[in-house]
Amino acid sequence: MKYIFVTGGVVSSLGKGLTAAALGALLEMRGLTVRIQKFDPYLNVDPGTMSPYQHGEVYVLEDGAETDLDLGHYERFTSGKLSRINSLSSGQVYESVIQKERRGAYLGKTVQVIPHVTNEIKERITVAAKDVDILITEIGGTTGDIEGLPFLEALRQFALEQGPRDVVFLHVTLVPYLAAAGELKTKPTQQSVAKLREIGIQPHVLVCRSEKPIDASVRDKLSMFCNVPVKAVIECRDVDSIYELPIALQQEGLDQLVVELFGLNKPQPERNVWAELARRINNPAHTVRIGVVGKYIELQDAYKSVYESVTHAGIANNAKVEVVRVDAEDLEKRGGTALLKGLDGILVPGGFGDRGTEGKIIAARYARENKVPYYGLCLGLQIAVIEFARNVLKLKGANSTEFDAASPHPVINMMEEQKKIIDKGATMRLGSYECALTSGSKAAKAYKAESIRERHRHRYEVNNAYVGQLQRGGLTVSGINPRRNLVEIVELKDHPFYLAVQFHPEFQSKPLHAHPLFTAFVAAALKQRKPFKSAKAKSKAKAKPKAQAAGAKASKPSTQSRKAARPAKKRA
Ligand code: GLN
Repeated sequence: MKYIFVTGGVVSSLGKGLTAAALGALLEMRGLTVRIQKFDPYLNVDPGTMSPYQHGEVYVLEDGAETDLDLGHYERFTSGKLSRINSLSSGQVYESVIQKERRGAYLGKTVQVIPHVTNEIKERITVAAKDVDILITEIGGTTGDIEGLPFLEALRQFALEQGPRDVVFLHVTLVPYLAAAGELKTKPTQQSVAKLREIGIQPHVLVCRSEKPIDASVRDKLSMFCNVPVKAVIECRDVDSIYELPIALQQEGLDQLVVELFGLNKPQPERNVWAELARRINNPAHTVRIGVVGKYIELQDAYKSVYESVTHAGIANNAKVEVVRVDAEDLEKRGGTALLKGLDGILVPGGFGDRGTEGKIIAARYARENKVPYYGLCLGLQIAVIEFARNVLKLKGANSTEFDAASPHPVINMMEEQKKIIDKGATMRLGSYECALTSGSKAAKAYKAESIRERHRHRYEVNNAYVGQLQRGGLTVSGINPRRNLVEIVELKDHPFYLAVQFHPEFQSKPLHAHPLFTAFVAAALKQRKPFKSAKAKSKAKAKPKAQAAGAKASKPSTQSRKAARPAKKRA
């Protein structure tokens, strides 16, 4: 068993999660089984109750665990399915320690951070490492945070208990460029490494985020003052697409270094799937414009997996997807649909609360009436049903009881069992459920299957009392939960692509295996635009294969701060 611990220094949002994921991808390519997990020092039990302004997306695992969005990166870059044991917060650690204390499990001892809290953390490392060659553990936050100390102390102890060749500490740090001095500065990194060494951790590898190339003299300096060999100073500059990161790190020798540190004989195979992927990303034959209509549109990370899934579908369709972010509230202002003109497809992602819902309904109506491909995810399905009920079935005031408790036509309603629940945390319909598909439907054709499993995170459902009317009106139910007879997928027959799902397919899409529904949606969007632009787009793509500008920040949401983008006053 080998362990890699990933810490972060100087500032947050350096892309530690992506670094861990990309390293995992490289090690998997060498034939090692890899699992990645995250330790988060905050006191929430999980991020399920946090606002997107605080936390970005909540990523849902197959077993229903609500986790940090970094787990999305881990699942997208590596093949291992993750479960709730791969996500640990201080809140969970303390909850467990306190429960044990109440049970008398500590046999009269004084319960302390060392050893009781640290033991709890170490145990999670051991449990998660079962059956894999390499476990990568990312520690959230930045070195020097008070909250992070018990975790770092636990890692120090753990490393001491293992053999010297079994643990690698990898520190992701910032090497800023000071324009006034015209230099890259190493001092912040020196100081964050000094902080780690103070608590007994000597990093083996430094992954240095930097805007400029790190030359030999800067590498020497980092090596000398941080006490790491020069070849363990890994430069990590911004990449156009996050899926180019594995190759960028490989070129710096990161995976080779790690296998050498572990004394493993696992050479890089000839076929490099990540290099192949990077070539495909950089040579798209088409472009397509997909509008995402949401209320957290200004945040980089709120719809992370949705944006990534659309990118994967673009790769699968040999197209570069331009995501146009549309604020649902802007559509509520008069003449708002102008914002939707020229879009090749419209996607309405998940959401909670009534702010912006009327704007989303406007978008769904526009897509239905103008035959623009529409794809609704979770709330996006509920929106499609409300819109159809109001404007096609003429059910005045049709709504979800989430937005209007007194609606005369509650086409979306809370399940009976949900009505009794008081606690907000981990009480939604969560995780993977079966869905039976109607043969011959668009959904069944896209999945090429009769039964599938998808992940859920919602409290409300389509009200079965209205299903007959909806179907007779032309909104077909093409997927149901067979055990509980719940609507899972709806689609319109006479429309190029109008499909919405009650689940979150975005949690199962990967760059190397795009999700079939996303792929079908982007394909439909591409088809729609063909009469107008395909010839032009083709010649353009030929003349300029590298469509994304180097260093274009907007195309790398991963490196942006999920907290920095938090506006001061907005209703959640
Ligand atoms: N707010 C809706 C519900 O709870 C939709 C949730 C979502 O989109 N994830 O059912």
